[in-house]
Amino acid sequence: MYDPENFQRMAKGFSLDQAVAESERCLLCHDAPCSKACPADTDPGTFIRKLRLKNVTGAIRTIKENNILGGACGVLCPADRLCEKECCATEISRPVEIAKIQRFLVEHSWERNIKVLEASESNGKKVAVVGSGPAGLSCAAELAKQGCQATIFEARPEAGGVIRYGVPSYRYDVDFLEHELQEIKELGVEFRCNAPLREAGQVEELLENGYDAVFLATGLWAASRLHPEVSNVDGLMTSVEYLASLRDEQFEALRNKIKGSTIAVIGGGSVAIDCAEAAVKLGAEDVYLVYRRSFVQMPAEEVERIEALETGVHFLLLNQPVDFVINHQQKIEGLRLVRTRLEKAKGTGRRIPKAIAGSEWVLDADIVVEAIGNQAESGSPSWYPNVDVDQNGLIQADAATLTTSVEGIFAGGDIVRGPALVVDAVNDGKVAAMAIIEYLSKKEA
Ligand SMILES: Cc1cc2nc3c(=O)[nH]c(=O)nc-3n(C[C@H](O)[C@H](O)[C@H](O)COP(=O)(O)OP(=O)(O)OC[C@H]3O[C@@H](n4cnc5c(N)ncnc54)[C@H](O)[C@@H]3O)c2cc1C
Ligand code: SF4
Repeated sequence: MYDPENFQRMAKGFSLDQAVAESERCLLCHDAPCSKACPADTDPGTFIRKLRLKNVTGAIRTIKENNILGGACGVLCPADRLCEKECCATEISRPVEIAKIQRFLVEHSWERNIKVLEASESNGKKVAVVGSGPAGLSCAAELAKQGCQATIFEARPEAGGVIRYGVPSYRYDVDFLEHELQEIKELGVEFRCNAPLREAGQVEELLENGYDAVFLATGLWAASRLHPEVSNVDGLMTSVEYLASLRDEQFEALRNKIKGSTIAVIGGGSVAIDCAEAAVKLGAEDVYLVYRRSFVQMPAEEVERIEALETGVHFLLLNQPVDFVINHQQKIEGLRLVRTRLEKAKGTGRRIPKAIAGSEWVLDADIVVEAIGNQAESGSPSWYPNVDVDQNGLIQADAATLTTSVEGIFAGGDIVRGPALVVDAVNDGKVAAMAIIEYLSKKEA
């Protein structure tokens, strides 16, 4: 039976005994391939060794000094294709569960009040960070550790970006995020929420208003749409609206709407899986994941797809959405689909879905969620008119330093890379912070 507690809270992580037992499986590899596989330079070889030697504080320090969101990464990283993929223990049994050990150490530091980071003396420099997702948080924390006064401007009421308003709470809950935010505040980072910088040129003006540098980390908050002209339809939602409603004051209303209903989620990626699974957990009668290719071609990770099947999501594959079925009261009644067959791939690409003529049919649905991709907000280039962007609105930044076309403005995270991972955004935040420090010291010299 549906239990609301399961929705709001993530499952418990390792206990001390479990973490120590798992660390005993580590082979203490001299070359520690796991430590070379993290996009944000996490060093499992060292923190697992320290845990084994009962140096728990040292292990926590290894994680947190490198990654202020070490807890979030321990929970959310697809470790099976990063550090754990390279783990040598796989050759004799199965990989060490590195991410779970990492999450344990971070949670243990909160339970035992073990502090490993300290605020630095001010160097008098002020940096504005636009956006409080993983990239903005990581950059601000790193800058604060170097003595800069970092101020985060965040459009939404609370900080966190996708890990607060996107990822469902049963995967990453708000208490966990609040602990990590508290550590960032203790470093001296200032948060200004409900402070969108969306007026034309407002971002660039920060440099004229006392800030020595700016880091842009605004992420991707516009949803791709099947028919962008269709709006204000009861029961038709984008993944961005739907997932945010699961994490704000609209939760109860949405839960009541979902309970007992039929939901169709369009898309085959991780975000679509999140939307579909959440609907099952909230008591939907039937949840269909509608995707135009086959199971093996879905962009979502295999482990996510299998979990969704086990949760009870129905996979409606080789079906392409054509149109929404909307009644006179402007309410969704279904989704018009056409069956597809896969044609030969061109070159080395994926096989192409082709609509089968005459095979249209209607899937009855009370709610349709479009989860077909996130993109830059359409007006975002006007927030920083001199910063170069590409045709999709993604900011053009130097890969090594994350500098943009405007001196003093740096950018990273999804708004530069396109849809990526929390750990990539964390790394961008660190890279940009180091580049900003170098830029400021050169400017002073
Ligand atoms: C539903 C979903 C599930 C995901 N699950 C995972 C997962 O399990 N594991 C994983 O590694 N990755 C996951 N990702 C990807 C990951 O969350 C992102 O790559 C990451 O959050 C990007 O961080 P960011 O800081 O660049 O941007 P964001 O997290 O998008 O944060 C950007 C912030 O900027 C703010 N902002 C935007 N415009 C302005 C403005 N003009 N002024 C002020 N503030 C502004 C936004 O409100 C937001 O808070 C998921 C993504 C989604 C959408
Ligand atoms: S690769 Fe695996 S076994 Fe080797 S140090 Fe890393 S966690 Fe331990």
